Amino acid sequence: MSTVNLTNEDSEYMQTGDMDMTYISTSSQQTELPGGAEQQTMRVYLRVRPFSKEELSDKEDLDCVGIENSQTVTLIAPKGSANMKSSEKGIGMSLHKFSFSQIFGPEMMQSEIFEATVKSQMSDFLDGKNALLFSYGVTNAGKTYTIQGTPKQPGILPRVLDATFQYIGGHLYDGMDLKPYLRNDAQYLEPDQVKQEKSAKAAIFASVKEECEPLRSSGLESCSALTSNPTEADGSQFALWVAFFEIYNECVYDLLQASLCSKSKKRSSLRVCDDGAGNCYVKDLRWINILTLDEASKVLQFGNKNRSAAATKLNQSSSRSHSIFTIKLLKIEDSTVTRISEFSLCDLAGSERCNKTKTFGERLKEAGNINNSLLILGKCLTALRNNQTEGMKNSYIPFRESKLTKLFQAVFCGKGRASMIVNINQCASTYDETLHVMKFSAVAKQVVQVIPDKPLKSLAPCLVGRDGKPLVKNGVIDTQALESFLCEEELLDEEDEANMSLATENELANMIESLRTKLLAERKRNLVQEMEIRNEMGDAMLQQLMESEELRSRQIEELKESFEEKLENTFEIYKDAIRQHAYQSAMNNLEDDYVAFDEFIAEQDKVETLKRKVSELEGLTSSIGGLCAVPTVDQSCQTHPYKSTEAAGDDRCKHLYKEKCAIDSICEDKQQLIICLEKRLKDINVTLENTRDGYLEKSSELDDLQRKSKDQTESMEEILWQNVDKDREIASLKSELAKLSQNPPMQLRPKRGLLANIRDAVTSPRKTSTTRTPRKTAHP
Ligand code: ADP
Ligand code: MG
Repeated sequence: MSTVNLTNEDSEYMQTGDMDMTYISTSSQQTELPGGAEQQTMRVYLRVRPFSKEELSDKEDLDCVGIENSQTVTLIAPKGSANMKSSEKGIGMSLHKFSFSQIFGPEMMQSEIFEATVKSQMSDFLDGKNALLFSYGVTNAGKTYTIQGTPKQPGILPRVLDATFQYIGGHLYDGMDLKPYLRNDAQYLEPDQVKQEKSAKAAIFASVKEECEPLRSSGLESCSALTSNPTEADGSQFALWVAFFEIYNECVYDLLQASLCSKSKKRSSLRVCDDGAGNCYVKDLRWINILTLDEASKVLQFGNKNRSAAATKLNQSSSRSHSIFTIKLLKIEDSTVTRISEFSLCDLAGSERCNKTKTFGERLKEAGNINNSLLILGKCLTALRNNQTEGMKNSYIPFRESKLTKLFQAVFCGKGRASMIVNINQCASTYDETLHVMKFSAVAKQVVQVIPDKPLKSLAPCLVGRDGKPLVKNGVIDTQALESFLCEEELLDEEDEANMSLATENELANMIESLRTKLLAERKRNLVQEMEIRNEMGDAMLQQLMESEELRSRQIEELKESFEEKLENTFEIYKDAIRQHAYQSAMNNLEDDYVAFDEFIAEQDKVETLKRKVSELEGLTSSIGGLCAVPTVDQSCQTHPYKSTEAAGDDRCKHLYKEKCAIDSICEDKQQLIICLEKRLKDINVTLENTRDGYLEKSSELDDLQRKSKDQTESMEEILWQNVDKDREIASLKSELAKLSQNPPMQLRPKRGLLANIRDAVTSPRKTSTTRTPRKTAHP
């Protein structure tokens, strides 16, 4: 997680405990500068959307956003959010505090938001100054609701229009022949042009259904008087013109072009041009003169319809485009425009980072560009803030790198006041994106705007006729220079050529001089254009490179994970197989030779008993032998009994001998059984030995596999290292590009063209890395 580095003197960076990070900017105050100019940090408001019914029924974590007071809000990371996960690993905090100019909770009404946010800008606008309001946040956070609202709950835009009409009162100029021209000027229209304007307007109104609810009748309660009405004595009148356009994929599309609704026609994009005084404007943008709030409401509806129709036709989401509604107020005195002010309300594209599954082809381009223009807006704000910080002055502000910032550069540079309403929802599921939004706004809040008390003299509008030539010459605008900037025709036309032959030498010299000046201006313009193209291309390439780099590293990561998983599975399978095999072979051998241990012991006992019996009998036999050898006493005293005793002894002897023999044979049998059992034991031992050998063999195989997996992990690491190399190369490429954009293009002009140059810059480091890669990965 990257943290916002608050370097502004007015800002405090607080860290309370180790779980709490605070982004607080203590100043939103206004300072008066000498000469009446005023200095003020950009006003950044926060609006927290209420939970929808679905969100409440989803049983999500409902406590992610805590509004502490009207200026401080706390974000608490919910379980499962990336922020919580990283804070659990000790990276970053799970609790963040942010401060805003003002915070509006879910219960805040649209009218309260209008009163508290744009009231001061509204007075500026009616007073002849420019105003710009952004709504920023992820999709579904309430940006459009805040800007446009609903018929029952009108948002800021209808309220601004309503307040303007209230201010104008009866001083509306309905001639329709004075129209905005370029960025700050006005144009006088001929009657046939007025007719065209009227028919274009009628066509728009005809295609908006009548059943639409007019704004006033539904939601708008009367706005409190913002600025006193122009006095009756003051003979000035006011004309109100509006334009509605969107920026999608860095292309500007007019939302008030009737052709957009027809199914067949592809909508064409408009160019953003420079008016020669450094102000950008959208060329050929349609401006509609509106006379009532109802008309304004119809124009808004027409534009909205066009926007969603175009999005549906091309299968895009309108949340990916920036939509801009601009109101121009022309102050007219004696049929001359004496003052022009504009109020732009910009509903920015959803700030969520692009969906990773869609980063291919058109989608990648789309996501990249959306991110790009928001990224550039962020970069501009950061650079503006840094330039205002002591010791960091003069860093380059990349206004020209996106259409959005190009169009509003003047406002950021003091020709008006900008403010931002940050919209967030309280859903745990989008917590990480919301945190990102808050950090972005923390930077915006520190941008200091210096607004001159009165519009600069050069801002006074120049009134031009149909041919684009100024009608009122107040000597401020160098019209010739303006013309030379805007002239798209050939420098020398046929008429000039015809006159050449008649011209004197002096006239010719003058002509050459003027042509030289024109040529110089043209060259300058071309150079600026070339620089812009270079920048745009460089950025686009860099963007693509970064996206593909990200994609690649993600793929490597996924590959690595799947390899690891596969290896682990293979180990498990091998282990199981070995265990099974060992068990099986043991069981096979044992089945044949198996003698239960108890039986074996019982047999041994029997053998022992029998052995004992044999020795007893042997003892008995020898004692009997002794008896037979000394029979004399009994034999001398007994004559008859002697014979029978002898016979009985013989019988007994024989009997005993027989028994002995039988026992001997039993003994022999048992001995044989013992030998046999011992042999079996030996066999079992051999089987066990074999099993052990098999097991050892398998475990050595396992070792081999593990070694292989280790090698694979190493090569994986090597690839990751190569990745780091690539990152470094990208960084160097970036710095080269930065150098490219800073150096005057004359010095940088490549001999073989820009594309070849960029391709060289991009491909040359790649070549070295690709030659290196196979060498490193050749040995597994
Ligand atoms: P976004 O333009 O940022 O994508 P939307 O303005 O379309 O978001 O708002 C999304 C939804 O939430 C809409 O249905 C809108 O009516 C509703 N909504 C937004 N903000 C509020 C609010 N403050 N009160 C009530 N409903 C709101
Ligand atoms: Mg929206």
